[in-house]
Amino acid sequence: MANKKNVVVEINPEIRDALVEMGAIDAYKCYQCGKCASVCPWFQVGTYEFLVFRFPLETVLGLIASSEDKDDLAREVEKLYRCVGCEACVDQCPLGVKMPQILRSARRILVDFGSYPENLKSVVQKIRNAGNPLGELRERRSDWASKAAVKNFESRMDLMYFACCLPSYDRRLQNVAMATAGILEIVGVSYGILGVKESCCGEAIRRIGAEKVYNETARSNIENFREVGVRKVLVTSPHCYVTFKKEYPDLGGEFDVIHAMEYFWNCIDSGKLTPKRSFQKKVVYHDPCTLGRQSGIYEAPRNILKSIPGLELLEVEDFSRNLSLCCGAGSGALWIDWEKGERMADIRIKQLLDTGAEVIAVACPYCLQMFEETLKAMGVDVPVMDVSEILHDSIREQK
Ligand code: SF4
Ligand code: SF4
Repeated sequence: MANKKNVVVEINPEIRDALVEMGAIDAYKCYQCGKCASVCPWFQVGTYEFLVFRFPLETVLGLIASSEDKDDLAREVEKLYRCVGCEACVDQCPLGVKMPQILRSARRILVDFGSYPENLKSVVQKIRNAGNPLGELRERRSDWASKAAVKNFESRMDLMYFACCLPSYDRRLQNVAMATAGILEIVGVSYGILGVKESCCGEAIRRIGAEKVYNETARSNIENFREVGVRKVLVTSPHCYVTFKKEYPDLGGEFDVIHAMEYFWNCIDSGKLTPKRSFQKKVVYHDPCTLGRQSGIYEAPRNILKSIPGLELLEVEDFSRNLSLCCGAGSGALWIDWEKGERMADIRIKQLLDTGAEVIAVACPYCLQMFEETLKAMGVDVPVMDVSEILHDSIREQK
């Protein structure tokens, strides 16, 4: 194995410059207090020691940059892809060090070298070729919308609804897109979808490190949005939300972006929507990292749930709001098969079930899919629902 001290000395200057340019310079602020490691979900998993504060210096600026030892490199690659980008560490770091950003800088180098996990390469290829991580046909993207009679967006419309890849193709998650469309119909707002012109927002590929493919995808989306006159975008996925709102402006894509939770709560608060039908269940709400910690949207989903007659809202003690534990699906991890005993979702599901909840509510397609698969593997029959589905059930006409 290479000597780490020597490796740092031998760092390739071009790679070092590239890492610094991509944000890894932040690593030098870190004074190794270790707080990030204690709030990282890997600490809760407990079967794997993920001392993230050691990576920037040892891994990013050392082994990855100049290792010629393939086994050594493979071990470091495996470590780098353990970060799920939940940003619990960023939230708690006294110096505001952005660990996931630093790790992503290193991932970008790996992607350029082609040294990253095969299943993630496949995701990147599928998004590049088909516009979605599932490799489904582009022409089938709006099949769900045909069933719900949703129109294609026109510039005279108030909103463009961007359903995200999973709710567009996955049979279970299509119900979330249909519920969203159903609520918009009841609100009476004019809205449409991009249909075959819609492509993945690119969030996952950027987090995986495929920056070039992200840039192509994002620029193409921005062009398509502009071409049809999009001004305001409503999204189901918080991953699309942060990408459109915080990252597309860097590429010139300035749109008014609103998450469905904010939009629906505003409608209830202003009297445009009134939940009527009772939902007599104990419901625990899981804060998705990307909607909560990364976007500051904690109250809107809770307010929606509290407005539904009969619903009792529960909280996970000590692991709620900004302290919520990640479902384990972010930054490409949805497509990585962790060993049994190393899955964050197992820990999070246990926390959620320990509240005595009869239903787990989420506001993110990744969390929904991760939790449903986990509950199925555990043999536990507790439903997971998007808040939009619960709201739609409470406001629609009974047949
Ligand atoms: S919490 Fe911040 S300063 Fe402390 S070890 Fe982590 S990154 Fe470094
Ligand atoms: S972003 Fe989350 S998973 Fe990644 S190092 Fe920070 S706390 Fe750990």
